[in-house]
Amino acid sequence: MRSSRPYDAIVIGGGLVGLSTAYHLVSQGAKTLLFDRADRGRATTAGAGILAPEANIRDSDQWYRFALQAVGYYPELVARLEEEQAGETGYGRCGKLLVAIDEAEIPAFDELTAKVLDRHRRLAGPDAPAITLVDPAEAHAWFPPLAPVQKALYFPNAARVDGRLLSASLQRAAAQKGLAVQPGSVEALVMEGDRVLGVHTSSGDRYDAGAVVIAGGAWSQTFSRQLGMAIPVEPQRGQILHLRLPGVNTGGWPIVGVLSDHYLVSFSDSRVVLGATREDGSGFLPRITAAGMYEVLDVGLRLAPGLAAGHLLEMRVGLRPMSQDGLPILGAAPGIQGVFLATGHGPTGLQLGPFSGKVVAQQILGQSLDAAIDQFSIQRFLDGP
Ligand SMILES: Cc1cc2nc3c(=O)[nH]c(=O)nc-3n(C[C@H](O)[C@H](O)[C@H](O)COP(=O)(O)OP(=O)(O)OC[C@H]3O[C@@H](n4cnc5c(N)ncnc54)[C@H](O)[C@@H]3O)c2cc1C
Repeated sequence: MRSSRPYDAIVIGGGLVGLSTAYHLVSQGAKTLLFDRADRGRATTAGAGILAPEANIRDSDQWYRFALQAVGYYPELVARLEEEQAGETGYGRCGKLLVAIDEAEIPAFDELTAKVLDRHRRLAGPDAPAITLVDPAEAHAWFPPLAPVQKALYFPNAARVDGRLLSASLQRAAAQKGLAVQPGSVEALVMEGDRVLGVHTSSGDRYDAGAVVIAGGAWSQTFSRQLGMAIPVEPQRGQILHLRLPGVNTGGWPIVGVLSDHYLVSFSDSRVVLGATREDGSGFLPRITAAGMYEVLDVGLRLAPGLAAGHLLEMRVGLRPMSQDGLPILGAAPGIQGVFLATGHGPTGLQLGPFSGKVVAQQILGQSLDAAIDQFSIQRFLDGP
């Protein structure tokens, strides 16, 4: 067994959340080591890239406030990565259209619109650009493959990002600042009483650190028994399809969403992404299924029949790390010195992840936090009903 010189921090997991945590740690001079097993089904690798918290009415006001701050942090982070010559991120503000296709959807669409506008008025702040109803003809002009729509709501602040590119960019920038990255699996934490000393890897090595961050996405629960507390995160499979429209400039197209969780996201390389399934109870089986592809194509082509001639480019599948209440689990593990959690981001980890990583890094370093995260502590699951 090999033992290393101690690190300030070890991060378990090289998805967007772990990479962001590591990037912000090394940016503050912390000697950091990141382990990544690169599981098939890594959510970041499959994520669609929608950054549009204002369109979400599912999650609580607490989530909304945090998410607005998180997406507000994107331009600063992307500018910094550009300065650091860390490569493309695919980030861009593109807006989002939420549409009702059938007349039967209009009551639900109106109800959703009222909720969206109410929350926006209460929480988005006076400078936030207005969310407005747009004429169906205008919606069609902005996204030409679209079916005739009954109603359309426009979110001008919505943006998109390429999760793979952003992760690679964070990793490159962090490596320039001294981040050590080890492929491989962390099998156990090294504990002494209620204090963490480091980790054991699958190759039998031990690495010591003052802090260990569990950012293992859907696989985070591995460490529950050792911590003596359940980390209530389960995999939810998501399947998604990429189409290419040769010769079509899709770069300026908005994201399009419907009342269900399905959507279309366009990128600048003549690519449109049709997403996504939400398969609770999928277990750790990152498989692409006939039913999954049928579902995204069926909804996607009803929404935008003009995509029918698109070439099938790529099918992706990822396991979303779903916490029991759908909110992230962030911050210090109560009663255990040196263990921090950064997991459970579910369907919104590309939106929240870069900021979550920043704030968790601040907590590890004893700095003041850019946002309160007490409400996301794992403590909420330990308190009981
Ligand atoms: C189809 C789909 C579409 C999505 N679309 C969006 C979207 O539009 N907008 C949005 O905001 N979010 C979206 N999401 C959600 C988002 O992708 C996730 O919330 C986010 O990527 C989670 O990041 P993560 O770092 O926590 O986990 P992951 O990206 O899954 O990374 C976890 C990493 O930890 C590693 N790991 C785990 N355990 C260990 C261990 N013991 N040792 C070493 N390594 C370990 C794994 O191998 C993996 O590489 C989508 C997800 C899917 C599947």
